[in-house]
Amino acid sequence: MTEAVIETDIVVVGAGGGGAVLALALAQKGIKTIVLEQAPGPPQGLRGEILQPNGQLVLDRLGLLNKLPVESTRAVRKFHFCRVGGERLCTVDYGDLPPPYNQAVVTLPNVAHHAILDAIQAEQSVSLWYGATFTGLLRERQQVVGLTAKRGTDQVTVKAKVVVGADGVFSKVREALQIPADLHLYPQGYLISILDAPTPVPEAKYFVGKRTILGMFPAAGNKVYLFYMIDTGSYDQVKAQGIPALQQAWIAIDPSCESVFRALTGWDHTAFMPTGRVRTPTWVADGAVLIGDAAHAMNPHASQGRMQAMVDAMTLADLLPECLTAKDYSAMKLKSYEDSRRPQVTMLQKLADEQVLFWNTANPVFSFLRDRVFRTLDRNARLRYRVLSTTAGLRRTPPFDLIDRMIAAGFLPDPSAQDLPVGGTR
Ligand SMILES: Cc1cc2nc3c(=O)[nH]c(=O)nc-3n(C[C@H](O)[C@H](O)[C@H](O)COP(=O)(O)OP(=O)(O)OC[C@H]3O[C@@H](n4cnc5c(N)ncnc54)[C@H](O)[C@@H]3O)c2cc1C
Repeated sequence: MTEAVIETDIVVVGAGGGGAVLALALAQKGIKTIVLEQAPGPPQGLRGEILQPNGQLVLDRLGLLNKLPVESTRAVRKFHFCRVGGERLCTVDYGDLPPPYNQAVVTLPNVAHHAILDAIQAEQSVSLWYGATFTGLLRERQQVVGLTAKRGTDQVTVKAKVVVGADGVFSKVREALQIPADLHLYPQGYLISILDAPTPVPEAKYFVGKRTILGMFPAAGNKVYLFYMIDTGSYDQVKAQGIPALQQAWIAIDPSCESVFRALTGWDHTAFMPTGRVRTPTWVADGAVLIGDAAHAMNPHASQGRMQAMVDAMTLADLLPECLTAKDYSAMKLKSYEDSRRPQVTMLQKLADEQVLFWNTANPVFSFLRDRVFRTLDRNARLRYRVLSTTAGLRRTPPFDLIDRMIAAGFLPDPSAQDLPVGGTR
């Protein structure tokens, strides 16, 4: 075992959705950065990825959007929300958004992430260390001035101007900073799978019912990214019941896609993803910052967790050169990043939790209201656009005020129902 001391400008813990984007954005500004990632290499596991318009904008700014391999991506415009059994409630069309980001991009697992990691490896000013685990912070008085890590069998000390905790929901950096976290694990998570459909599935479908959610998003080729809500801790039980039982449950939800469901032939084509939410009173300290899930994980109903981690990264990458020039790494200086990001993140966390309440429910009153809201949205272009632009990551304020809520629930008429904002297209 050896001990090394290394100096850099910025050290990032975690090369996930947020950390990798931050490293690349800093590299493109020529800022010396080290990224520690505990995993032995780039992620290979099964996961579905939807790049919302705000995520596409980030990739575009990094020069990567047009470089994603076409054979691994699929643009999707229409998302149909349906009741279990098949009745369509509402259709949301990304084509209503202003171009060029007027589509959702569904990628095969880790495609965008690998493109970012590959781009980092080509940069001189960034070192990405796989198999390196954060072990503690270095402090001088109250100021964080670096960290310690285990890299293979070696102990490493990294002295840095700013330490960034991009290490996910169970952040050890957050713990070391003694930032208290309200960590909520939701009782339901998702069984996910990518299936080869016998015929193309042209548009996305999302089914809601009595404590039931099943989503099917078309991916590259004839592949379909499927996610099915199950209770946390029940994955083994679902497996024990067997694939035919699971397929039967899916066929009952959407009989028209039986042939897609039959394409599931083994559990190795599935994975379980738990869901959690993190709330913290602050994201900054003297010499340290939290980004992404470490600061503000949210329920995936918002379809924005990773996108928000990416936007955090870009916002912080815009601020850090100023900090380096001014030699000011105080919490007060870093706070402008948090001030800029917190309103949107808080709004999305609240919205996602409302969706948990109404979408994951077995309560007939909540289900009735949920379906009524979907039906109103189908007729009301103004409110539908509000919801779409929020999911797309283009809004910082809540989609509905009190009056809009009454309209959405069908208790008030809407004289402006067909108004779309300037810049929106039909
Ligand atoms: C079911 C499900 C569906 C989702 N769907 C979407 C979606 O449609 N759209 C969307 O935008 N988001 C979605 N998300 C959320 C998204 O996956 C996360 O919000 C996003 O990955 C957060 O990025 P991050 O960089 O903050 O954390 P992560 O991506 O979790 O990265 C953290 C990294 O830190 C590393 N690490 C942890 N501890 C250490 C340590 N001590 N030392 C070194 N490295 C460490 C980890 O190995 C990891 O690579 C979904 C999440 C779930 C569960």
